[in-house]
Amino acid sequence: MARAVVLGGGISGLSSAFYALQEGVPAKFAKVTLLEASERFGGWLHSNKYKDGTVFDYGPRSFRPQGNLNTIDLALKLGLRDDIIIAKKGDILDNRYIYSDMTLHELNIGVNKLFKVIPPMKKRLISYILQDIRAAKGKEDESVHSFVSRRYGTDAADFLANPMLRGIYAGDVKKLSIRSTLSILYEMEQRKGRTLTTKYPKSPSVHKALEDYVKDWSIWSLRAGCQQLSDALVEYLSRPDMPTELHQNTPCRKLTFKDGAAVVTTDEGETTADHVFSSIYSGDLAKILPDEHGELAEELRGIPAVSVIVVNLEYPVESPVKGFGHLLPSSEDGPVLGVVYNSCVFPEQDRHKANGKISRFTVMLGGEWYDDLLERLDGSLNPNGIARLAIDVISDQLNITEKPLKVDVIIQNDCIPQYLVGHGERLERIFKYIKDKKLPLSLVGSSYKGVSVNDCIYNSKLAAERLTGLPPYIAPDIPQKHFVR
Ligand SMILES: Cc1cc2nc3c(=O)[nH]c(=O)nc-3n(C[C@H](O)[C@H](O)[C@H](O)COP(=O)(O)OP(=O)(O)OC[C@H]3O[C@@H](n4cnc5c(N)ncnc54)[C@H](O)[C@@H]3O)c2cc1C
Repeated sequence: MARAVVLGGGISGLSSAFYALQEGVPAKFAKVTLLEASERFGGWLHSNKYKDGTVFDYGPRSFRPQGNLNTIDLALKLGLRDDIIIAKKGDILDNRYIYSDMTLHELNIGVNKLFKVIPPMKKRLISYILQDIRAAKGKEDESVHSFVSRRYGTDAADFLANPMLRGIYAGDVKKLSIRSTLSILYEMEQRKGRTLTTKYPKSPSVHKALEDYVKDWSIWSLRAGCQQLSDALVEYLSRPDMPTELHQNTPCRKLTFKDGAAVVTTDEGETTADHVFSSIYSGDLAKILPDEHGELAEELRGIPAVSVIVVNLEYPVESPVKGFGHLLPSSEDGPVLGVVYNSCVFPEQDRHKANGKISRFTVMLGGEWYDDLLERLDGSLNPNGIARLAIDVISDQLNITEKPLKVDVIIQNDCIPQYLVGHGERLERIFKYIKDKKLPLSLVGSSYKGVSVNDCIYNSKLAAERLTGLPPYIAPDIPQKHFVR
């Protein structure tokens, strides 16, 4: 009886278990055991619903439909259709801002603005396009800052790429790899010699019906927060007819390999598995590998992660600025990464009877600038001091001076892996090692090929399909009833 063990019960581990046992497929695994170290499943997907209806997300808060429909496909399969909440394209919520020089600048880039200067950028839009046409092809990998400066100019690197990468990776544009973080631009340069085009390659194997379903969506989430997705996976995998075992409070202490099988050690004892899906952070995996795989552990340890402090606030006023949120370039304020205007995007998650008179915001702090943040907080992670800092951010940057109704502070340690320059080559070495040594091990999770929830789920699907012998991603037919909203 083929048995798989999944390490980690975040979204990557749960979706690996799901895909390894897909219905209607001659599943390779007769049994799947999932081990989660902490007391809860979901990993960074963590939502808090207050009695008055307010939803605060402590980790991810939305998903993008473009480029990857797999997550929606999964949500539909799990019966979450009625709980999907959508922010539509072209709404005010599509407004994104950069806070620079103590001013909010709306990022409104379009072909009709070709001859205009769009602050905080310093030159007319056309000049960035001309620089891209003239730029020479770059090298194998380089920092996003170096790539963007070379192709469009340094102010594009400092005022566009810098805040954007802080928003996604909480990381430093001068350290992050272009090849691994903005791979589409990297590949366009490699293939075409320039990057600005209206014809980006379409993502492959997208199902037409699903594409139509989401065509006017900008972003989406779930009524009770993103954790609803991991909760639905747990519910599905816990069904009595599923050949699964899900264990909380069960950290894997050691992972060894013997005679083509894996031996997983927990406090309860040893389990032999035909295959292991490791979805835990690469640095944590390095800690449980035996000395004989020290070379692999060393590579895994080379992928650092940054910590983020998430402060959710609720105010008794309508947001004076409409949109998705704003980001800050590191030159403006290192430790303050940005603010999300949650109520503008998903008013469904406001308290009951809010009638638009309530605003929820999330202030993101730290990341690569965590040490500077600590210094500003006088070395103390006291929640009151952190809350005061977040309230000052809202007051200074959005001009809201009322007292917040709720403030919820959470510290997320080592939560976002950093794909530094050379990450792609490191992955090649890691995967070659596993292949050469014939280790029955799949590496999934945010440490490797994308930190978004979309990437995590999709990579778990690919990993399971490779082992079950399925062809890569074929979106299923979505019954018409799913299209009724
Ligand atoms: C603040 C924040 C905001 C974000 N916002 C967004 C967003 O809006 N949209 C988006 O798409 N993405 C967002 N992301 C990124 C995304 O949420 C994460 O990359 C993704 O959830 C990672 O999932 P994972 O399953 O790979 O890892 P994790 O969630 O880290 O899961 C790994 C699990 O393994 C467990 N574990 C660790 N060691 C062991 C062990 N030895 N044995 C057993 N279990 C172990 C851990 O307890 C954990 O539960 C955000 C992330 C953060 C932190």
